[in-house]
Amino acid sequence: MSVDYKSTVFLPKTDFPMKAGLAKREPEMLAHWQDIDLEGQRRKAGESRKKFILHDGPPYANGNIHIGTGLNKILKDVVVRSQQMLGKDAVYVPGWDCHGLPIEWKIEEQYRKKKRDKDQVPIVEFRQECREFAEKWIDIQREEFKRLGVMGNWDDPYTTMAYTAEAQIVRELGNFLMDGSLYQGSKAVMWSPVEKTALAEAEVEYHDHTSTTIFVRFPVIKTSLAEAEDAAIVIWTTTPWTMPGNRAVAYGPDTDYVVVEVKDTADGVLAKAGDRLIIAQARVAAFTAECGIAAYEEGEPFKGSALDGTLCGHPLRGQGYDYDVPALAAGFATTEEGTGIVHIAPGHGADDWELGMANGIEVPQTVDEDGTFYAHVPLFAGQHVYKVNDHVADTLADAGSLLGRGKLSHRYPHSWRSKAPLIFRNATQWFISMETTGLREKALKAIDDTRFVPAAGRNRLRGMVTERPDWCVSRQRAWGVPITVFVNKESGEPLRDPDVFERIVEAVETEGADAWFTSEPSRFLGDPYNADDFEMVTDILDVWFDSGCTHSFVLEGPWQLGWPADLYLEGSDQHRGWFQSSLLEACGTRGRAPYETVLTHGFVMAEDGQKMSKSLGNVVSPMDVANQTGVDILRLWVVGSDYSEDLRIGPDILKQHADIYRRLRNTIRFLLGNLNGFDADERVDPADMPELERWVLHRIWEIDRSLRQACDAFQFHTLFAELHNFCTVDLSAFYFDVRKDSLYCDRADNIKRRAARTVLDELFNCLTAWLAPFICFTAEEAWLARNPDDSATGSVHLRTFPDIPEAWRNDALAEKWRDIRRLRRVVTGAIELERAEKRMGSSLQSAPVVYTTAEYMDVFESLDAGELFITSGARIENGPAPADAFTLEDVKDVAVVPAPASGDKCERCYQILDEVGGNDEFPNVCNRCADAAQHATA
Ligand SMILES: [Zn+2]
Repeated sequence: MSVDYKSTVFLPKTDFPMKAGLAKREPEMLAHWQDIDLEGQRRKAGESRKKFILHDGPPYANGNIHIGTGLNKILKDVVVRSQQMLGKDAVYVPGWDCHGLPIEWKIEEQYRKKKRDKDQVPIVEFRQECREFAEKWIDIQREEFKRLGVMGNWDDPYTTMAYTAEAQIVRELGNFLMDGSLYQGSKAVMWSPVEKTALAEAEVEYHDHTSTTIFVRFPVIKTSLAEAEDAAIVIWTTTPWTMPGNRAVAYGPDTDYVVVEVKDTADGVLAKAGDRLIIAQARVAAFTAECGIAAYEEGEPFKGSALDGTLCGHPLRGQGYDYDVPALAAGFATTEEGTGIVHIAPGHGADDWELGMANGIEVPQTVDEDGTFYAHVPLFAGQHVYKVNDHVADTLADAGSLLGRGKLSHRYPHSWRSKAPLIFRNATQWFISMETTGLREKALKAIDDTRFVPAAGRNRLRGMVTERPDWCVSRQRAWGVPITVFVNKESGEPLRDPDVFERIVEAVETEGADAWFTSEPSRFLGDPYNADDFEMVTDILDVWFDSGCTHSFVLEGPWQLGWPADLYLEGSDQHRGWFQSSLLEACGTRGRAPYETVLTHGFVMAEDGQKMSKSLGNVVSPMDVANQTGVDILRLWVVGSDYSEDLRIGPDILKQHADIYRRLRNTIRFLLGNLNGFDADERVDPADMPELERWVLHRIWEIDRSLRQACDAFQFHTLFAELHNFCTVDLSAFYFDVRKDSLYCDRADNIKRRAARTVLDELFNCLTAWLAPFICFTAEEAWLARNPDDSATGSVHLRTFPDIPEAWRNDALAEKWRDIRRLRRVVTGAIELERAEKRMGSSLQSAPVVYTTAEYMDVFESLDAGELFITSGARIENGPAPADAFTLEDVKDVAVVPAPASGDKCERCYQILDEVGGNDEFPNVCNRCADAAQHATA
């Protein structure tokens, strides 16, 4: 008689496909979430829970998202989803930064193409075009972020250009106006002549730039130092165009200086015999070499402080530059380059400005906002600073003041937008003082009270806030929130009247910030003031002030998120940007930071560590990855990477992550396949389970603990490695492998099989939840595959992480099974060798003998060793092993003889046993299989 044994075996059965097809499946999942209003359901579920607020740092709405933005948003999503699953109400309101130069620049570019003059366009029309441009990109980026699986309040995001936001930004500015920390000052600011505006530090890039360098002599006209009489002080500068702005020279008070007397010069050398030149002793050799001075005599050195009180003439004296130039002591005058004496143009440098202010030196206005010299500047009026360097050098040469000229390639500040070199320019600007109301002190205290991940962020931000100058908040641009201040024409003081300010805020709230540009001043000033007495400021606010206010109009806004936020999470460049502007704004208005924790991540580089660039062809676009391999692969890359450093991505790295993904998917598929038909009646209490099952439960307990710690610490890559290891090593390569026999071949009511299926059920519940914040699409796909009823309204993303009973912890068992697996490695190794040598086809052909210690004998007392080894029986012996037994270098006390099993092969379970063939009704099978087959066919 022949029996169809195959039909009596429980082969895995599932519709969950091996091949993921994510690019097609993920959009279907997004549609499901839309259909069931997943975000709405999550908010409802969270109503009574403790809130967790990650406040979104707004990306700029001016282009498609790139891999860096993708990383940032996915990381945020992982944090938000994991906090929600920890049982909190993690509300995420995404936002956009809309004002500012890059958009304005785009619109201007379009104008230039159409040969349209921006200055002829009414400002409100121009602003409207900027607004529409931002709206367009918000819509595009929103779809891209959603495609990355990022969950949040996409239907009602915040934008810095919403009227309510603009009104709140104005209100916040009012706080600084009223408390006296907003002031108008004249200052040398980093200025872009191309964009005609002051730039924030965050808008500055450093690139190589070739500058004209000049050595210039300043004749001494009055001094108390005998050696300096009839001599000239020599300076060196890389910005010849700043010479018209020169008002002083600076020496190091403790530096040694000498008088160099020129003895003889060759043709073409600018210095003349008899010239007496004062420079730092340390620079004599370099200076004389560069200026071609071959023969000279060096006088006795003297300290720079001896030059105190010395006055020089400007090198263009007699041509409109007839003021005296004092020599001043300054710590920044060093002997690293040049002559050890620095030329000071107080309108063209931060140090220069400070030194000028400290010594009561006039800060001249020489350069107009477009980079040309004002009409009042002698010799150079109307010329552009970019093009005037040679003219300045020639004019100095004609005046006999030039000693040398050359070129220098060095790092020089450029506008991040136009890429044009920047200048320092003296201009009227609005500042928020770091000192008037103790803002610096408050900010430093707030930094101390904030948690930083990684911890190094604290010192970084601390250093920046300690050093930073007052906050220059004005920009001479059009697309932004205006500085809604009236300045009294007579006193020059800003009007600090809360009633006036409130009228402005109200207008902006209903009409947008355009109201400032379209209204008559009298609308806001009201009866108490005569509009003719005041000037309306037309500058706009630094966009960093806008985004620095997001905490006020988002956290305290209509979303009712609560203030402060739990977390700000951005790239590490935001220590200079948003982390700092938010900190200063909140400390100035509310006395503390708007966040409890600041988390920073690195930047994304190409696979080979290079910067991504179109020209190198190594740019990875997140949308391309989504459409080709799927977002879950990208999300695996995010959680698998150590984001505290720079990350790398490219085709090979994506392929590695696709492999990892496949292994995780197969783990889930095994669970689904072997849970086919599982119902609650089958469940076995852990106390009645075999040790192996209880060991898996212990591992679940361990990973749950790691998971909760990792989510609290926002550290995912080590957790992810642990989770991946659990799935591949502990489960697929061990537990699943061992239990396949029982799952496929034991009777349905067998306690071991039922225990295994109970554990598989727990594993499924845990893994789908644990993986949900990471591979959000696949976790959902798996969940719905097992819970088809949920397809109507449910989602894995409505769950919380399962509560793991403390009773599952079993440290003693964990240790015991570490030992068992150690011994098992030797057995597996011995059989692998047999198979490699073609002496055996499968491990079931072996019934190995294991020679080991008495301790191991005890360990295996109650275990089915053959089952664990996946062999047809096994024997554990305490005694000396035969000489040819298999051993492993690192497992000293175990030796294995992979002896062949005796008997016939069971047609149902493939084990080779003596008992096979002993049953007439079920021939060719073992006793267990005969019983199982009978049970299955009964
Ligand atoms: Zn069998």
